[in-house]
Amino acid sequence: MPSLDDFAAGKLAELERHSLRRALVPTARTEGIWTERNGRRLLSFSCNDYLGLTQHPALKAAAIAAIERHGVGAGASRLVTGNHPLYAELEGRLARWKGTQAACVFGSGYLANAGVAQALVGSDDLILIDELAHSSLWTGARLSRAKVLAFRHNDAAHAAALLGEHRGTHRHALIVTESVFSMDGDRAPLSDLSALAKQSDAWLMADDAHDLGHGDTADVPLRIGTLSKAFGGYGGYLCASQPVIDLMRNRARTLIYSTGLPPAVIASSLAALDLMEGDPAMAGLPVLKAQSFTHAAGLPKAQSAVVPVVIGEAADALDASRMLEDEGFLVVAIRPPTVPEGTARLRLAFSAAHPDDEIARLAGIVRTRILKNA
Ligand SMILES: *Cc1c(COP(=O)(O)O)cnc(C)c1O
Repeated sequence: MPSLDDFAAGKLAELERHSLRRALVPTARTEGIWTERNGRRLLSFSCNDYLGLTQHPALKAAAIAAIERHGVGAGASRLVTGNHPLYAELEGRLARWKGTQAACVFGSGYLANAGVAQALVGSDDLILIDELAHSSLWTGARLSRAKVLAFRHNDAAHAAALLGEHRGTHRHALIVTESVFSMDGDRAPLSDLSALAKQSDAWLMADDAHDLGHGDTADVPLRIGTLSKAFGGYGGYLCASQPVIDLMRNRARTLIYSTGLPPAVIASSLAALDLMEGDPAMAGLPVLKAQSFTHAAGLPKAQSAVVPVVIGEAADALDASRMLEDEGFLVVAIRPPTVPEGTARLRLAFSAAHPDDEIARLAGIVRTRILKNA
């Protein structure tokens, strides 16, 4: 037992030395995009609550009604008795919303990504994955036992070269990327990747976790999404053809061997979809706010609601984050291994709920006190 504790303490000391130790900080979120931390009220630019739905009255009411009707837990895996009737309604509506034949809801975006690849490819197959793809996509790729090759970030030509070299010796090939990158906010070249996939008989999967549903029209047969960000609740999903979705229900272990989501979570996602479909302009608002920020801060125009301010060293990113906290902003520093070594950063996520005057004040501080030193 002491060797175990020694091991853990040693690892932590090493992380501490490199400014990479992490801690959970109690953070109350009760007032929209305002948070309370260490006794202080801070305007958060670190929540993925893009549309301000986590505390929306319509979502709360839907969740409460679902609890009253169905109880708090699903009781079993969806394949056994956990498939309460709200699931079919949500899956039908997600498929229609994304323009696919069918959809399958998983316990989270992480579980969707960890499970989908394994149901499609195995040890005779090839996965090409963008080097900056989310941890959950890497987990799924590695669990599949396929040969995994990383292509340079957003470099379809590199992906093509790797396919040229390796496609012939593998049965199936899967190309994996994010449509909007979670830590960089840039968009994948989905039409190029889609053309490449067709040309090489490969399957393309894109993770739309940070894509607020306006933008690309590329033909992507496997669309991953999350109910935990713009939807304001929890859960993940795959939108695809009916045969692919039916295969997931038979083969995706993270779906089959995990309990269904609480009914309240599914009900709140249905209420979120009602709001998004009722007001299509709402989804565009976070990107507009991000663009007003990048314009005022003198940064390249935002391509999405996510804006990175790359600092470099982890300790400097922590200092910048603390300085912003003193100014009343919550902007969490993102450090390796979440981002590559030497690219520690502030990552700002813009929400429809952010006040314009506060965005302008933050941009001024970033321009004069952070970028000037960078
Ligand atoms: C957040 C995120 C996930 C995980 O989704 P959860 O529903 O939070 O588990 C997956 N992929 C990307 C790109 C993400 O940013």
